[in-house]
Amino acid sequence: MKSPLLPTYARAELSFEKGEGAWLFGRDGQRYLDFGAGIAVNALGHANPHLIKALTDQAGKIWHTSNLYQIPEGERLAQRLVENTFADVVFFSNSGAEANEAAIKMARKYHAANGKPERFRVITFEGAFHGRTLATIAAGGQAKYLEGFGPKVEGFDQVPFGDIEALKKAIGPETAALMIEPIQGEGGVRLVPGAFLRELRSLCDQHDLLLIFDEIQTGVGRTGKLFAYEWSGVTPDIMSVAKGIGGGFPMGACLATARAASGMTVGSHGTTFGGNPLAMAVGNAVLDVILEPGFLEHVQKVGLLLKQRLAELKDRHPAVIAEVRGQGLMMGLRTHVPNTEFIAAARKEKLIVIAAGDNVTRLLPPLIISEAEVAEAFERMDAACTSIETELKAAAQRGAAE
Ligand code: PLP
Repeated sequence: MKSPLLPTYARAELSFEKGEGAWLFGRDGQRYLDFGAGIAVNALGHANPHLIKALTDQAGKIWHTSNLYQIPEGERLAQRLVENTFADVVFFSNSGAEANEAAIKMARKYHAANGKPERFRVITFEGAFHGRTLATIAAGGQAKYLEGFGPKVEGFDQVPFGDIEALKKAIGPETAALMIEPIQGEGGVRLVPGAFLRELRSLCDQHDLLLIFDEIQTGVGRTGKLFAYEWSGVTPDIMSVAKGIGGGFPMGACLATARAASGMTVGSHGTTFGGNPLAMAVGNAVLDVILEPGFLEHVQKVGLLLKQRLAELKDRHPAVIAEVRGQGLMMGLRTHVPNTEFIAAARKEKLIVIAAGDNVTRLLPPLIISEAEVAEAFERMDAACTSIETELKAAAQRGAAE
């Protein structure tokens, strides 16, 4: 049957009817180990009882009121985010792209309010992904997402990843901000060294630019800290957050210092749904768990274990695995075979993993995975690599026989 859905995704022949912790139950009757977490979204796994209770309790009270009124759950979540980060203020959105739109608008408005409306340009880095709205595809700068959508939104300049000299040259009198993911997610789990982030901070201070961190994928415990910037000690002026913050409920946030947000006055930005009581109840419940003493240490510990097992996998299968990348529970495997082949082989072993750029496969399990589940994922990837090797050998033999 032809699907009535807009065909913008090459959807796999796979659907799930139930989830539990790090496990997904397919309509095919099979049980899958979920190392994708809906692309880093289900931070606490599936059917987490604390999240279910928060959602259903709130659903029985009030779902939505609009930002025309006080929303105490949102005040509370914002207060907790402020207490645990560099930020002074928070704007809630529904998605990552909208959090980035808020970040970009805020950076422009900061300069406009300071009498410099000509400073509106944002510098980004090759391989970036910031979302799919018109402004965020311009920010991401990737031709495959821009093509056919008319003139690229004005005001985004891109420099090569990690190239500080190119960056210095790109900064001009119209530059408002630098925007970067501390680890590029879609770009292929590419880590930005702490030293580079420190250089960005000092360039921003020197030129009165705002530093925007896109922590939509890296945030909310994914790397073993609440936010990835904490590893470097560099604080941004503005930060976008989404994915894990809702644990599966669609929501995002734009966090900022009071200085960076100083241009955003009444009426300058808005949203119908962002920050509604239902989303805020779930966001608070996610934070209850992530901020529990020992939770982030657990992420660091299993993350390290995963990294060790992936190094072992590479040693065992050098013809398949080229490189292991990442931090905490945001790991990437660059393979010698196309990542689509690796992902298909993993799926045959009932392991769900996600594609990224640079021929990388991302491993983004729920943050609650156990050591035993890491061991199970290793076994499944080991089997997937073995079947790829068998294929490679058979193909080589066929080639030799021809
Ligand atoms: N920024 C980063 C780093 C992301 O990984 C994503 C989504 O993958 C986005 C922005 C866009 O978020 P959303 O799809 O919620 O709009």
